[in-house]
Order: sequence, then structure tokens, then C-alpha cells
Amino acid sequence: MQLNDSSATASGRALVWFRRDLRDFDHAALFHALAEHAQVFCAFIFDRDILDHLPRQDRRVEFLLTSLCELDAALRATGGGLIVCHARAVDAIPHLARALEVDAVFANRDYEPAAVARDAAVAASLARDDIGFHLYKDQVIFERDEVLSLAGKSFSVFTPYKNAWLRQLQFDTSDVHVRAFPIDPLRNRLATPPVLPQIVHGMPSLEQLGFEPSNFAQLDMPTGMSGGQKLFEDFINRIGNYHDARNFPAVKGPSYLSVHLRFGTVSVRHLARQAAEYARRADTGQGAQNWLSELIWRDFYFMILHHHPRVAGAAFKPEYDAIQWESGAAADAAFRAWCEGRTGYPLIDAAMAQINQTGYMHNRLRMVAACFLIKDLGIDWRRGEAYFAERLNDFDQSANNGGWQWAASSGCDAQPYFRIFNPVTQSEKFDPEGKFIRRYLPQLAGLSAKQIHAPWLFGTDALAQAGITLGKNYPAPIVEHDAARKQTLLRYAVVKKVTPAAVDAADEAADEAAVDAQ
Ligand code: FAD
Repeated sequence: MQLNDSSATASGRALVWFRRDLRDFDHAALFHALAEHAQVFCAFIFDRDILDHLPRQDRRVEFLLTSLCELDAALRATGGGLIVCHARAVDAIPHLARALEVDAVFANRDYEPAAVARDAAVAASLARDDIGFHLYKDQVIFERDEVLSLAGKSFSVFTPYKNAWLRQLQFDTSDVHVRAFPIDPLRNRLATPPVLPQIVHGMPSLEQLGFEPSNFAQLDMPTGMSGGQKLFEDFINRIGNYHDARNFPAVKGPSYLSVHLRFGTVSVRHLARQAAEYARRADTGQGAQNWLSELIWRDFYFMILHHHPRVAGAAFKPEYDAIQWESGAAADAAFRAWCEGRTGYPLIDAAMAQINQTGYMHNRLRMVAACFLIKDLGIDWRRGEAYFAERLNDFDQSANNGGWQWAASSGCDAQPYFRIFNPVTQSEKFDPEGKFIRRYLPQLAGLSAKQIHAPWLFGTDALAQAGITLGKNYPAPIVEHDAARKQTLLRYAVVKKVTPAAVDAADEAADEAAVDAQ
């Protein structure tokens, strides 16, 4: 990225509002602010509109705090530093902008409906004082309308979207979409945070933010820019094997970078450039191509949320909203058993133990656990989506909604409704020796590789030898898979063939409802 001519004559002050981009390198908003202004302040707001709704123990808040300390130190090392506030961002940003007497606020674009509304409110408030608000693409490679079909329409099926995405990357030979935004040459324009009335100075503690420590410290999770870099360096040595290893939860197959992509402690442009380069090599090509595809899925779901914000709460395919889900006390009990990993299906229970103990869940297990809740227990996918949103360190509304609607078959390019994972065969296939299950359910460690996937199929004596009494130290299965499968096919019978016209009609209806609500 070249500095434009105006950089030589830059004047005035700007404020960069960090949100999900906690790094001081390759940062679109920071680059533009520095290029256009002589003095640039940096701020992060612990937004009460988000934080006040979180559980009081939340690993994400601890991840944020440690990552922000690193960012603050990195900015301070070159003369800048972070202004940190605990307030409502809609109030704090205009307040700060006025107090600092800046000409404009710079930030990277967010695509979640609540964030879009927040940004619109901030922009309106700033405009009243003639302060600009500039948003940049930073957290995706292609955003909004940048990848369209030949007919100029947004895609709703992944493979043609992916092909168009790849074509566009190659077409733009200047690699403008993956080129880094260089911050280093402009660092002398970073301004030290001033002492301002009504602003608490210094990084707040977890307690000051109203949270209690979780088990985050024991997890030893790499945080901040250094953590993201460490994970990526480790992963790039394994990328060639990604396509083989990624489906086995006991194996170190994926990158574990999702929380870093969520908070922007890594640059997605850097990751995509590296993946594209390794994809061209003979020894790493297949794995790197598959991994690049996952980054494209990420862009795809951001694009879907942008074009169809109604998916937050409703089926992408409207007909699927006619499905009658289980409700009442029995459904509530089954939902709690799923959340707490007490279904009696070891792979599901180990997966839920993983999310509950660490805030991460392996992708294969997310698919199997989601499918189990929806198609074995008959519970509304939105309840599972909300549970993941609360528990996942990497929670991203677009990918989470996309994943849940995929499992419910109600999403764009979802699995067909009659595709119902068998939790036992999935377990036999993807955790054949039960290594992952044993890690998270140590009470089952004495079972053999044959028994561990479905303990109830073995006699009480055989289980007793492994120290297991079903119903006592491990639950009996709460549902019988074959019967549940038949029930699900009946439940889904209300679903008629969905035409693109029906999807368009639902979008229009949702748009009208949104306009009415304003
Ligand atoms: P890797 O396999 O190393 O993939 C690299 C990156 O690609 C990920 O970090 C992620 O940013 C992206 N990615 C991978 N798979 C997907 C996918 N299917 N959709 C979109 N992006 C993807 N991912 C989230 O980041 N946040 C979520 O809240 C989330 N919820 C999910 C819920 C369900 C029900 C399902 C089935 C999937 C969900 N995913 C979510 C997608 C995927 O499971 C995670 O991105 C992945 O497991 C993260 O681990 P990783 O970083 O080691 O992934």
C-alpha cells in the first residue's frame, strides 16, 4: 500500500476506534488515519451494551484484557498508547472525539446487525459536531457486494461463491485485497493518551469491569498479537496435512486461530496470502487449499449476514420456520443435559465438556453436537446457537449462525434435512480409539476402543470391569437414535421445496418489517 500524496501534508487530529482488530500492524483504519492526520489517538471501549449481558465469568473478557495490554504496550513503545474506557460506546466515542478535538474517527467495518446500528448512531452523533466517521474493510478479504454472480446478485451457495472469490483474487493482480497496510513508516504520528476529565486512565482490572476470573489462566491460551503469531507459525508447519488431520478432534489438525480472527490479533490478509502461497506448492498444496477454503467460508457467512440480516433469528429458508420444535419440561431437561454433557452419547458429552471447560470446540464436533441437539433431541437450533454464543471464545454471529443453520438444514447451502449424523458412527469414524473422549470424560477411560462409543450396548458386567455403572457414574442415553431419526423426518415433513423467489420474498418482508420498526 503506497502512502498517498496527502500524507506529506497531513494535518489535524484523528481518533482510531479499535474493536475487533486488536493489533498495531496491517490495520486498515489505523493506516488511513495516520496517512491523513498529523496526530492520531487510539481508543478501545469496553462497551457496556455488550459486556453487561455476558455471564460474570467470561474467558473472552480475559482474552481481551491480556490482548489489549499487549496492544497498549506496543503502541506506547512508539509514542502512542490506548485510551481505554468502560462505557456505552455510542456515548463514549462521540464524547472522546469532542474532548480530543479530532476531525474524524476511523474504524474497521463490522457486519453484525447490532454493530451496524451502533455505528450508524455513532456516525449521526459525530456528524452533529461536523466530525467525520470513516469505516474500512479489514476483517474480511471480500466484503458486502465485492463478490457477486455474473448476474450481479449475491451468492447463496458456497461453491460458486468460492470460485468467484478465487477468480477475483487472481483477477486483481495488484493483490489489492490481500496487501498489507504498512503502519511502521507513520508511527511518529501516534499521539500519547492525554489526561481527560471523566475518563478513567489505565487498563481496568477484570474486577473493575464487573467480572470474576474464569479458568482462563489455567488454560494457558496464547493471547494478543504474539499469541496469534505463535499459533500461526506452529500451524504453517502442519498446513500441508490440514485436509487429512482436520476432522479428528484428538489430533492437532486445525490452526486454533479462530479466537484471534475474532479479535483481530492476526491479520486475515496475512493469513490468506500465506495460504495462497502454500496452496501453490506441491508438498502443501492440498492442505493449504482446504484451509484457504475455510477462510472463504468465513467471508461467505459475513456476506450472508450482510445481505440477509434476518437470518439472525429466522431461517434462511423461510419454510423451515414452520417446523414445530419440542418444548415443555421434557425438552428443557433434554436441553440442559446437552448443555452439561449428560446425553449418554460419549462423543457428544466430550464435545460439550470441551466447550464448557475451554471455550473452544473442534469443527467436526460443532457439526455433530449441533445436529444431535436439533435432529436427535428435536430442539430449536436457536437455543443451541445462543448457548454456543455464550460459551465460544471465537463466537462470531455470522459463522455461528451459518453453522447452526447448516446443521438445521434451514441455512443457505446447508446439509439436506434428511442427512442426520449418527453420533455413534461419527464417534467410531473420527475418534476411533476414543482418545478425545477419554481426554474429556476420564470416567470412561477404562472402556475399550470398541465399547467407548456406545457403552450401553455392552453388558453391566463388562461395564463394571471398566468401573462404569450406567445411570450412576455415566448417564444412560437420553434418546434412542433410530427412533429420533424417524421422528425428525416426520418433523421436517412440513418443509416444502424452497425456491429462490421464496427467499427473496422473505428478505423483502424482513426489510419492510425493519423499516416499520424504525
Ligand atoms: P481452522 O480449521 O484452522 O480454520 C481456520 C479459520 O477459518 C477459522 O479460525 C475460522 O475463522 C474459519 N472457519 C473455519 N471453518 C469455518 C466455517 N465452517 N465457517 C466459517 N468460518 C470458518 N466459527 C467461528 O469462528 N465462530 C463461531 O461462532 C462458530 N460457530 C460455529 C457453530 C457451528 C454449529 C459450526 C458447525 C461451526 C461454527 N464455526 C464457528 C466454524 C468452525 O467450527 C470454527 O471456525 C473452527 O472450528 C475454529 O477452529 P480453528 O480456528 O482451529 O479452525
